[in-house]
Amino acid sequence: MTEASIKDEMPKAYEPGKIEQKWYQFWMDKDYFTPKIDPEKKPFVIIMPLPNVTGELHIGHVLFVTLQDIMTRWHRMKGEPALWLPGTDHSGIAAQVVVERMLAKEGLDRHQLGKAKFIERMWQWTEQCRRTITEQHHRLGASCDWSREYFTLDEDLSRAVRTAFVRLYEKGLIYRGERIINWCPRCATALSDLETEHKDLSGHLWYVRYPLAEGKGFITVATTRPETILGDTAVAVNPKDKRFRTMVGKKVILPAVKREIPIIADEAVDPAFGTGAVKITPGHDPVDFEVAQRHRLPLINILNLDATMNENAGPYIGLDRFKCREAIVADLKKEGLLEKIEPYSHAVAHCWRCQTIVEPLASKQWFVKIEPLAKPAIDAVVDGRINIIPAFFTKVYLNWMENIRDWCISRQLWWGHRIPVWYCQDCGELTASVNDAKACSHCGSTNLEQDPDVLDTWFSSALVTHSTLGWPDDTDDLRYFYPTTVMETAYDILFFWVARMIMMGLEDKGDIPFHTVYLHGLVRDDTGDKISKVRGNVLNPIDVLEQYGTDALRYSIIAGTSAGTDSKLSVAKLEAGRNFANKLWNATRFVIRSIGSEKSLGIQWDSLPTEDRWILSRLNRTIASVTKLLEDFQFAEAQRQIYDFLWSEYCDWYIELAKIRLRSAEALSPVPVLIHVLETSLRLLHPYMPFVTEELWQNLKRCLPSDWQASESIMVAPYPEADNKVVDPAAERVMESVIEIIRSIRNARVQYDVASSKWIQAQVYGGKLTPSITRYSQAIETLARVRPVTIRATRKKGETGENNLVLVLKEAEVIIPMGSMVDVEAERKRLETELEQSQAEVARLEARLKDKDFLSKAPASVIEKERQKRDALTDRLKRLRQQILQY
Ligand SMILES: [Zn+2]
Ligand SMILES: [Zn+2]
Repeated sequence: MTEASIKDEMPKAYEPGKIEQKWYQFWMDKDYFTPKIDPEKKPFVIIMPLPNVTGELHIGHVLFVTLQDIMTRWHRMKGEPALWLPGTDHSGIAAQVVVERMLAKEGLDRHQLGKAKFIERMWQWTEQCRRTITEQHHRLGASCDWSREYFTLDEDLSRAVRTAFVRLYEKGLIYRGERIINWCPRCATALSDLETEHKDLSGHLWYVRYPLAEGKGFITVATTRPETILGDTAVAVNPKDKRFRTMVGKKVILPAVKREIPIIADEAVDPAFGTGAVKITPGHDPVDFEVAQRHRLPLINILNLDATMNENAGPYIGLDRFKCREAIVADLKKEGLLEKIEPYSHAVAHCWRCQTIVEPLASKQWFVKIEPLAKPAIDAVVDGRINIIPAFFTKVYLNWMENIRDWCISRQLWWGHRIPVWYCQDCGELTASVNDAKACSHCGSTNLEQDPDVLDTWFSSALVTHSTLGWPDDTDDLRYFYPTTVMETAYDILFFWVARMIMMGLEDKGDIPFHTVYLHGLVRDDTGDKISKVRGNVLNPIDVLEQYGTDALRYSIIAGTSAGTDSKLSVAKLEAGRNFANKLWNATRFVIRSIGSEKSLGIQWDSLPTEDRWILSRLNRTIASVTKLLEDFQFAEAQRQIYDFLWSEYCDWYIELAKIRLRSAEALSPVPVLIHVLETSLRLLHPYMPFVTEELWQNLKRCLPSDWQASESIMVAPYPEADNKVVDPAAERVMESVIEIIRSIRNARVQYDVASSKWIQAQVYGGKLTPSITRYSQAIETLARVRPVTIRATRKKGETGENNLVLVLKEAEVIIPMGSMVDVEAERKRLETELEQSQAEVARLEARLKDKDFLSKAPASVIEKERQKRDALTDRLKRLRQQILQY
């Protein structure tokens, strides 16, 4: 293609839709996203946090995709083999709930459908979600390595899950035990503590009398869940509580079911709660469970798994738990055993996925013994092998890890990794095995049944830093890319995911899984509200990028963010992003159209004028600063500096100065510097706005000699490096002064409402910089629309004269004759009239404020208002008198 035809071909306005898909396809075709293993180089590695297969991409995902893409593209341009490994999580309970809701709409539930059919539906849904998510990542420009894409239920990853399980089991770090777990009756599964949300509910505290078995009298206990009386196996008091000293050791008759239970003493009882005596329900309360273990009390489960009452509930069998509560309270009242009811608000655990009230119940579950895993994971952060950004979260992490409880990893779901344990139907022993067990490892029997439960979805997520690289096999990928470099994720899954990856990485690999944890915040709308479907402020990323372009969306989502802090997305930011892309588009069109008869496009370093040395100096300072900011994970500030440099210094000043030079035949052509700065800045910006920079860079490249840039794409071109030799403080000083002079004259024009076509006059006193500034007299003339402009070193005494506006700048002074901006006579008249009116008004107000009648009758607020009015006008008078002196 000829140069001329490109100049004509570049459309006037930037249309993102026309180029985005083209470039993404080009990058894919060129295989740029797949790094080459090079033992000489240190790789850069990010494992993508796993988007849930629970639906479409949310605007919050745009933030993490953009952040990770910025890091990956930057490191790739620095020449490092950069691996950004994408994948999706099967997301156990969350995904199962979504499909169950879909079934409910068809009038079905999973039991009616049967396990095999249900799993089939799960796979269909998952495939569909994964396609959507992948497609959306393409649209966002994510440069992740699709050839290594994974799904947590893939065969290899499932083998890793089984291997990790069996290894922990064999070390005695996984055990099966009866514990109180959080049970969601709707999801019909156990939940870990993290999977419940506590909400304050206003309920009641019921005071119930338990009659003594012998003699008269009773002991009163308070409870928020009267239905659990049915499962009580003791009443407990604090051993130091004098009120109950004589009661300990006696027996009481349990109301409703008339069972005899003992009164015991235990330190765990808080004498200040209720009456000081508490009921002990080991089957449905974690604290009571422990009390029961200490006192060898029996454990009675009163609930079916759907939260109806079971055979232990006596007359209440079959009732729903809340119906049972009503029935028991009514019966207690009838029997005179209900002493009183108090309103009581307390935190109640809800299922985080379906918001059903969770029931604590004793159940046989699988647990990871967590303390031996937590210890090395604490050390890795304390000794700095793993760095958490922002640092604040280090404390949060350590605090949680030091108080961590065993991790319940079994879930009564159908969707997930089956627990790799087989129960022998003959000898009753357990066999844990990576491959499907064929025979009992204890007696050899083939009469085996696999545990029906699946693993917590976070168990497989905890392994992705190594399982996605081939572990447990010793692969090239694992050897080269592990430990990974950065784990970038949302702060709200620090415990769910990050902490567990650290524990499992250290356990399985004997080495940390990543060096840096970068936690981003939530994206909120411009009023600071959390973006959610309920609030109706959800922005669909695809709609947004179709309206504004992907680069504008990426720009806006990064602007104003910082680690660990929530950020706001607004239309104003989206527009700023779009305007920025357009500004670059126009600048590049200008540069391309300016390429003409230059003998050479090489920069003649020895004979550059000040503005060239200035823009090159500023470019190199910007590169140095941006590089430092990227190294410090300050992505928003780096973006702001690139934006400011390109928008203000390059487009608004350098290009405007270049236009003047291009009109003059003698001047050295600014084109080589125009090209150099633009091309370098596009590379600097590329990780942030990949599409528009590629399009502009390619357009520029086609207009230049073939030896000019060896790379075939900006994304594999080198990232700019700062050259200190180019930094030129003297040139910066001159240009800053010239810019300040032009800017101050422009401001004065605005202040005095001077028509933009009107020429005004100015004298500039440049002090020591006068010779340098004088070279810019034409620029000052053109850009500030001043004619004539005279430039001298210093002003002679009395030279300000009358009717002049004096602007005192950092190094220079500018004097503008008022008469060149406004009609002095008319302006003086106008000011004098205003002065007179203001004086009269002040006099009136002062008289009023001295009027005793007014002062005694008017409300204080009215008096205060009048006083403020007078003060404001007095101020105005002062300024009017000064202004009049200028004429
Ligand atoms: Zn639930
Ligand atoms: Zn056996």
